[in-house]
Amino acid sequence: MLRKVTNSMLDLVYPRRCPVCMDILQGDGKSQGICISCRGALEYVPPPVCLRCGKHVDDEEQEYCIDCRRRNRNYLRGFPVFIYDGAVKDSVIAFKYKNKREFAYFYAKEIMHRYGRELLEIQADGMVPVPAHPSRYRKRGYNQAAVLAAALSREIDIPIYDGELIRVVKTHAQKDLNDKERYNNLKKAFKRKRNGVKLETVILVDDIYTSGATVEACAEILKKTGVQSVYYTSICIGRGG
Ligand SMILES: [Zn+2]
Ligand SMILES: [Zn+2]
Repeated sequence: MLRKVTNSMLDLVYPRRCPVCMDILQGDGKSQGICISCRGALEYVPPPVCLRCGKHVDDEEQEYCIDCRRRNRNYLRGFPVFIYDGAVKDSVIAFKYKNKREFAYFYAKEIMHRYGRELLEIQADGMVPVPAHPSRYRKRGYNQAAVLAAALSREIDIPIYDGELIRVVKTHAQKDLNDKERYNNLKKAFKRKRNGVKLETVILVDDIYTSGATVEACAEILKKTGVQSVYYTSICIGRGG
């Protein structure tokens, strides 16, 4: 079965590359999934973090960041690992647009390293990757969120329900929109599959959490269609809001 191809076999065909400098991994870098010298280029979200979205908060006394204090969230808690900037940003862009799917192994290991315990404690029934619009999927040939979920599933042994959410509207770059416009724009972008699987607790998986509008929209649909608790994890999150 193709799915059961072992890591070492994959390495023979495609030698693993460093998710930062993109050179072929050597020595200790091979087992770590990143060159030892490139590790320092990664910026982790420093504690303390918002107990809702996982973003760094400056004030240790505050449980939640400004955004999460301002609005009700449809999800309970988020687990992002890196700050979307610098080397991480370049790496994730390559993962997303330049077919560097193999980076998912490293990202998944980092998510588990930082938040494995929390993700296990949730006892989720399934992981749902944030879907890509079919036209994007066709163009790129893969959905990076689903690739990440697949890599995570190998680490944590939670089944993936890819296709449980469907992206029905292609949303364009949302940079120029304000918060409210973003949310309204995305609210219509997703649907739940008809006769979807009954899931009580779900971990949404995405590559980047920026304004949170995408995760919010997905969480809202899941909750409207019977899911009780939604969490999310992502490779990275914006610096602050
Ligand atoms: Zn490197
Ligand atoms: Zn927050």
